[in-house]
Amino acid sequence: MKIFCVGRNYAAHAMELENDIPDRPLIFMKPATAILHKERDFFIPEFSDNIHYEGELVLKIGKNGRSVQKKFADSYISHITVGLDFTARDLQDELKSKGHPWEIAKAFDNSAVLGEWQDYDQFRNKLLQFQLLKNGEQVQHGDSSLLLFSFDDIITYISSFFTLQNGDCIFTGTPAGVGPVASGDKLEGILMGKSVMNCNIR
Ligand code: ZN
Repeated sequence: MKIFCVGRNYAAHAMELENDIPDRPLIFMKPATAILHKERDFFIPEFSDNIHYEGELVLKIGKNGRSVQKKFADSYISHITVGLDFTARDLQDELKSKGHPWEIAKAFDNSAVLGEWQDYDQFRNKLLQFQLLKNGEQVQHGDSSLLLFSFDDIITYISSFFTLQNGDCIFTGTPAGVGPVASGDKLEGILMGKSVMNCNIR
C-alpha cells in the first residue's frame, strides 16, 4: 500500500508557515513503514528537536484506478478517519531552504498515525468536520469546505501520475494550528463529533 500526502491544502496553514498557496496539489509520499501501529505510543526520535503534529482528514482508497475522472473520484473513497502527519519541522526547514527533497523530515518510521476507519458511505456529499485536541484542548479544526483542493481534485490529480490501489491512504492536508509535541502529550482526533484517534507522545 502507498501513503500519499497533500501539502498546503488549507490557505491558513500555508500562510502560518509562510508558504505560497499552490496552484496545483503538492503531493508527497510516505512508505508503509511510516504507519504507527494502533495502541503504540509515538516516541520522539533523536534526530529532531521540533516534531510537529499535523492533524488531517485521511481517506482510504477502496478500489484500483488510474487516470480517474473527477465525476467518478468520490466512488474511490471507502473509508475516512483523522490521522497525524508527524513532521520533523527543523529538518524540513533545513531541507526546504536548500531545495532538497524532504522525505527524512516527513516519511520516517511512525510518522503516519491512522485513527479508526469510518465507513465513508455515511458521509458522502456531507461537510466533514474534524478537530485535533492536545491534552484535552482544541489546537486544530478544519472542515472539507476549507480544502484548497477537494477530495475529488486530489484523487484525480494523484491518479494521473500513480495507479491508486485498494488500501492506499491519502492524508488530505492540515489546517492552521500545527505545533510541537513534547513527551507526555496526548493527541486526540475527533471526526464529526466522534473520537476516532488517540496518540500518546513519549
Ligand atoms: Zn501534512
